[in-house]
Amino acid sequence: MSKGRLIVLTGPSGVGKGTLLRSLIQRHEDLYLSVSVTTRSPRPGEVDGKNYYFVTRPQFERMVAQGEFLEWAEFAGNCYGTPRRTVEEKIREGKWVILEIELDGARQIRKSFPSALQIFIAPPSMVELETRIRGRGQDSETAIARRLERAWEEVDAAGEFDIQVVNDDLERALGEIEQALFEPAAVC
Ligand code: ADP
Ligand code: 5GP
Repeated sequence: MSKGRLIVLTGPSGVGKGTLLRSLIQRHEDLYLSVSVTTRSPRPGEVDGKNYYFVTRPQFERMVAQGEFLEWAEFAGNCYGTPRRTVEEKIREGKWVILEIELDGARQIRKSFPSALQIFIAPPSMVELETRIRGRGQDSETAIARRLERAWEEVDAAGEFDIQVVNDDLERALGEIEQALFEPAAVC
């Protein structure tokens, strides 16, 4: 059995993390994408238990108090957290577990799982980022403004991550992520 591993994928909202991950999971069925818990309302088409576990704020607070999260953070007015038990079980089973989380959460994981590979997905430009968020057509003006404001802070922190991948061309960006995951670094 392979050795379990934790992989963190972070980047501003709208940069294309979900799009990249959908392709990655399709190509590598052995990767496990952790399903987070959130107090955000579902977007059209989002399914409870698949995209997120959607809970109320009191439910989320109870889960925090009971230590059920590996990490959690507040983002653009909503709370998001990674369920501890499932992730620990999958790693014990030898799975490669991917967390798609924002900056605060990635920083928490860096402390608790220093061996996790941390990947930052950067936009080609802030103008393109806004175009993508708007193009997705699923966020209110307030949500878009909050996400863009936060994006500057996240892009500033890109250097904290093990690798940075610019999601300009989707296939090229995917190739870079695959290389980081599956090809051992050359030894000179
Ligand atoms: P995130 O999960 O980071 O919030 P999404 O995966 O929802 O972002 O992508 C946001 C929008 O950008 C979607 O409409 C998606 O189709 C588009 N997108 C993603 N990657 C690219 C790319 N490389 N080039 C152009 N558009 C992209
Ligand atoms: P969205 O509302 O666009 O789905 O997600 C907003 C942000 O929350 C994204 O940057 C996403 O990566 C992040 N996020 C999703 N799940 C989690 C989680 O479990 N923990 C943390 N810290 N961030 C998360």
